[in-house]
Amino acid sequence: MTKTVGEYLLGAGAVGHLGRVLAGHADSPGDRVLYLVDHFFEDKIRALPLPVKAADMLLYVDTTDEPTTESVDALVATVRAGQPVKAVVGVGGGSTLDTAKAVSNLLTNGGVAADYQGWDLVRVPGVFKVGVPTVSGTGAEASRTCVMMNHGKKLKLGMNSDYTVFDRLVLDPELTASVPANQFFFTGMDTYIHCIESLGGRYRHAFADACSEQALRLCRQVFSGTDMRSAENREKLMVASFLGGSAIGNSYVGVVHPFSAGLSMVLHTHHCVANCIVMNVMDEFYPRETEEFRRMADANGIRIPRGLCRGLSDEQYRALYDATIIHVKPLANALGEGFRDVLSLNKAAEVFQRM
Ligand code: NAD
Ligand code: ZN
Repeated sequence: MTKTVGEYLLGAGAVGHLGRVLAGHADSPGDRVLYLVDHFFEDKIRALPLPVKAADMLLYVDTTDEPTTESVDALVATVRAGQPVKAVVGVGGGSTLDTAKAVSNLLTNGGVAADYQGWDLVRVPGVFKVGVPTVSGTGAEASRTCVMMNHGKKLKLGMNSDYTVFDRLVLDPELTASVPANQFFFTGMDTYIHCIESLGGRYRHAFADACSEQALRLCRQVFSGTDMRSAENREKLMVASFLGGSAIGNSYVGVVHPFSAGLSMVLHTHHCVANCIVMNVMDEFYPRETEEFRRMADANGIRIPRGLCRGLSDEQYRALYDATIIHVKPLANALGEGFRDVLSLNKAAEVFQRM
């Protein structure tokens, strides 16, 4: 069994109808809605047609770093200090959407974020939650997880649960018009990478395949080299991201995400740029796709960072390896149960050196 978001509003200007999307959940003027908005919008908040009432609470999410269990716990403490919340609205990219999902779950389940990192640990539904993506690609708007770094446990893991899934989405491609080209490409490529990993895996599912194939088709159109950020392409990428996120609930990723998680864990590289750095050197695992990926980057004038692992110590390579090989499910999905024979410490170090 798996779950994705069943109700969404899609189209340019959709965010202007957020009030309708909240209907039935925060109808009276005293019903408090919590808005968690990416800090990029802090000085432009008036330009966003959010139906914020006097009783509501609006907090900005600092996305300089990706969400941590501590950052989520701090927000929850602020919210718990006030009146109960009837709905949570997350407005931002994957970091803000994941934060909103985690906060919603914690408000009804109690405890701290780290208590729920894992599979099916969330006991009861969270507060009614609405996702409003402002960068497309991670699929966080559709998925049943919310990824958080846990520095204490040296772990990057989400609350994987049906309760983590947003109740409704507002998919408004106008919101992604301000995303800078590099960020637009890096995050958009998360969808491409999720889908090629899913289709290249051993654990397959007809629904995931169908979502992945269509999402890939859209990615190829968006990143073909005509303006990737045109209005039409922004809408296509928003849909591709949603489909890609829905696909992952039914399948697993492959080799790219474990290596990328290694970079995030040890060198603190952000998820989407880390994926692109890894994808750029995946010739032996995904030869056709690696070539296609490079063509798409070139066609859009995007330079993928290189030299990240130059001059690292043996201990750092060991740490990168440990943070990669721990991802058993995706690695077995891509390489089979004997993935440790394929991906020895030396082999992984070679791959990291090429980045
Ligand atoms: P993000 O949310 O980290 O934001 C990246 C940057 O874009 C930030 O600086 C932000 O301020 C800026 N930004 C956001 N909207 C903007 C806009 N409209 N205009 C200009 N700038 C804007 O980016 P992301 O790549 O979407 O998310 C990455 C996060 O998603 C990671 O924490 C990763 O772990 C998580 N993730 C989650 C899932 C999931 O299924 N839950 C899947 C993949 C990745
Ligand atoms: Zn990803």
